[in-house]
Amino acid sequence: MNQSNKTNLEFLKNAGINYFLQDSPRNWFEDVSKSSFKSTINENDYKFNKILSIVEKIKSHDTPLKKTAKNIVVYDGSIDARVMFIGEAPGRDEDIQGLPFVGKAGLLLNKMLSAINLKREEVYITNVINWRPPQNRTPEEEEILEFLPFLQEQIDIVNPDFIFLLGGVAAKAILSTPLSLGKLRGSWHEYKSLQLNKTINTIASYHPAFLLRSPQFKKQSWEDLQMLQTKLHE
Ligand code: URA
Repeated sequence: MNQSNKTNLEFLKNAGINYFLQDSPRNWFEDVSKSSFKSTINENDYKFNKILSIVEKIKSHDTPLKKTAKNIVVYDGSIDARVMFIGEAPGRDEDIQGLPFVGKAGLLLNKMLSAINLKREEVYITNVINWRPPQNRTPEEEEILEFLPFLQEQIDIVNPDFIFLLGGVAAKAILSTPLSLGKLRGSWHEYKSLQLNKTINTIASYHPAFLLRSPQFKKQSWEDLQMLQTKLHE
């Protein structure tokens, strides 16, 4: 990456920018509910088609990660979910199956969900990065920024009431902060969607893979999950 690109990325990052690398100009003032397209098909088909188009966009986006990964991994669960769970990037099992959180960390995530009476099928589960990084390395900042617009578009399509960030990479991407999870967890944050013109209540907590390695943090994770459960029933 040359210096001017780096400076540009730095600028976008510091600006907490919500969108970049778009294929076409966005009409911020378009009222989607009035579109004639929407009136001809039902809401679910509309959302589903939008998600399919994101999958195609990610597929055609040029990235070296594509060369080493087997499958693209975008989402699992419901496009109508009230809660969106966002992890880091696919691991080995996810790369093989083309689905997020299906390995050991995924099993723990399923347990975490059922502990607050949520089923995997009723939440939207995705990652910041959609291709497995080689040897499961942590995604680089440039990669996070590169994939962020795709994630932001998914948030806009699903339009969840709550976002639950799993781990530091998701927290950095969505909350645009260098603060550690130790500092971020335990309280609500706000994610602002310009497209939806709304603020989404967001929690950042520990990644299930981290909890498998460091079970002493499960107590805090449980507290964070309970915060979500309380809000879901308000
Ligand atoms: N870890 C993640 O962050 N995402 C997955 O999908 C699996 C493991």
